[in-house]
Amino acid sequence: MIFSWLKDHRRKTLAAEPFPRDWQDWLSRNVRHYPHLEPPKQARVRQVTRVFVAEKNWVGGGEFSVTDEMKVTVAGQAALMTLGLDEPYYFDRVQSIILYKGSYVHPLFSERFGMLRERVPIAGEAWYRGPIVLSWREVLAGGRDASGGKNVVFHEFAHYLDGLDGHVDGSPPLGARQQRQTWYRVTEAEYFRLVGQARRNEVSLLDHYGAKNRAEFFAVATECFFERPQAMRTQHAELYGVLRDFYRQDPAQWAPDATACPEPSGLFRAAAWRDNRGDLAAKRARKSRLAMLRSRNPNTWFRLSVTYLNEGRFGLAARAATRAIELDPTDAEAYYHRALARMEQGRYAEAVADCNEAVRLDPEDPTAYQTRGAAYVGLGRFTRAMEDLDRVFAENEGGAEAHYLRGRVWAGLGNLRRAIADFSHSLSIRPLAAEVHYHLGLAYQRTGDEDAANRELAKAFQLDPHVARTGKR
Ligand SMILES: [Zn+2]
Repeated sequence: MIFSWLKDHRRKTLAAEPFPRDWQDWLSRNVRHYPHLEPPKQARVRQVTRVFVAEKNWVGGGEFSVTDEMKVTVAGQAALMTLGLDEPYYFDRVQSIILYKGSYVHPLFSERFGMLRERVPIAGEAWYRGPIVLSWREVLAGGRDASGGKNVVFHEFAHYLDGLDGHVDGSPPLGARQQRQTWYRVTEAEYFRLVGQARRNEVSLLDHYGAKNRAEFFAVATECFFERPQAMRTQHAELYGVLRDFYRQDPAQWAPDATACPEPSGLFRAAAWRDNRGDLAAKRARKSRLAMLRSRNPNTWFRLSVTYLNEGRFGLAARAATRAIELDPTDAEAYYHRALARMEQGRYAEAVADCNEAVRLDPEDPTAYQTRGAAYVGLGRFTRAMEDLDRVFAENEGGAEAHYLRGRVWAGLGNLRRAIADFSHSLSIRPLAAEVHYHLGLAYQRTGDEDAANRELAKAFQLDPHVARTGKR
């Protein structure tokens, strides 16, 4: 009781403070709906943003540092979803927001939160109390109308709302029985329609990803509702209607449609799936892939490279990133993602070259230094690797991955005491990393401490039987 009073009091105090000028600019630039809102709704967005930024625990994944601009951008986009409510709503059950730089989390850098976007089946309560994981690159592209009508914030917060009744199953908490009945009738029909379209690889307004299951359908429909409201109202009038009743807003009245992707939505997946489908589907997918190969939108290519990275198709990922770079040679992230693909292929020298370019374009970003350090470790150039890792540690105290890499460097330089210290530190942050136990075991072996070596190596094999073959993962 007293706590909730304190919370309210703190929120009122926050709301009464003047809204920073920078924040206002970020909302205008990175939340494309914001300038179209009426002044009272804009005031509500600012109020929700204020509290949301202050109360959530913001975490940078994989050594990424979260800035105020990122917080304001995520909060502002999420706030749009709440504008239909009478009282301000702050997504109270969301405690942490984890932001990654890009969309692809290199297995080396994965902090194993266990619930990275779409990798893990979503399961009820544990999930909706868990953190929300977002890629900053995608957040920004969505907010600036550069993602062809996709919006990762709407997507992930839709999952959250879906889970408020204890089940992430595509039906958020609904009011009256009447509303529930209409909801099921409309969404079931639309869901199966999308499943059919995805199977036949047909063009659809809703992303084919929504055909994966009902929870993804709701998230994808929510994205479309806010991003392409006018097109949705025309092409899926009933679905638009039930979402309008749920969100208690009518964005088609005020929000202009996002610029559609030059390619039909879902094409990425269609292209990626082509090997797993029948002949006819493969033929269609080839056709749509050819259409995509003509795209001159660098973001299309960037996203394709991420899709391929996530699917473990590293050669294709590198090629897609190359095309993104050709179309936009100033894109540090495209270089960085190509470096990740090359690392996975063991082409460390090329990874170093790409990181050099990423660093040149964006010298402030510690991620590229760390990746280059990892590539130098792969090349056995430990002194160079240490220079890069020094930069990472100068930036922050270093995460599990940075300590692991520095441990590899110390081991390479023959300083086993320091290597053991770094590996142990890494394990204190991320205990279940097989590759770290493995290298710690090797370091102990070299000091002659057989017991400790056997203990760590056994642990590594227990966590991942393949660890000895690769020395990582
Ligand atoms: Zn999803």
